[in-house]
Amino acid sequence: MTTTELHDLDTMRVGDLVLSITPPTERVTLEIVVERDASLVLKAPRSATVARAEEFVASKRSWIYRKLAEKDALVGPPIVKQFVDGEGFAYLGRSHRLLIDDAVNAVRLDRGRFLAPPAVRSRGASLMRDWYTQAGTHWLRRRVRPWASRMGIDPVTVDVRDLGYRWGSARPASGEQRVNIHWATLQLPPSLVDYVLVHELAHLREANHTPEFWAIVSHLMPGYESQKTNLAAIGRGVWLGAVHGSER
Ligand SMILES: [Zn+2]
Repeated sequence: MTTTELHDLDTMRVGDLVLSITPPTERVTLEIVVERDASLVLKAPRSATVARAEEFVASKRSWIYRKLAEKDALVGPPIVKQFVDGEGFAYLGRSHRLLIDDAVNAVRLDRGRFLAPPAVRSRGASLMRDWYTQAGTHWLRRRVRPWASRMGIDPVTVDVRDLGYRWGSARPASGEQRVNIHWATLQLPPSLVDYVLVHELAHLREANHTPEFWAIVSHLMPGYESQKTNLAAIGRGVWLGAVHGSER
């Protein structure tokens, strides 16, 4: 049992949850806020200890997961990769082994293997993220077209980026229609990437998870419920960039 003061810390990790800690106020109770971007904030009285805060977060765990799911967050135990020959990386539902090759100067998928330059040993996460971003942008911009035209909102621009703990994001907007997809989404099988795309396209019409929102999703993808369930299950095995060792 530690009696370290909570406010000595900026952030706190409890299992797979990371919370940032706001400066102390005169409040007397602890409170967790799930922000719009799915980040977690802990508010606590000046006297709070780390032990007390950990206990509080643990008791709120299922509430936190429910809130994160409502925000399209991807949550699960962090998957950690090592940049050594034979490590597996998924692309569109298939796993490919890494082979470090002096003769290449950029990551590429070649006959079922990821060939990577030796620099991958020290900068693996960023090199792989770049690869997923580039390959994914190309793939998704073609993939989105039939869905977008069925919704009558062609063209839609897809951007691939790191969205933290969210599969995708989109909001109703006038003018250019744009959806963002997390690079890690590209590890999923195409049918689940489609679900993420359709989900975000529906957000171009309706910002919140209202009955109207789900009606749009269902119209585009009848039987989407099974994809939603699969995403929750398979999504837990997706790599979000965590690396064994010190690289970040
Ligand atoms: Zn959503």
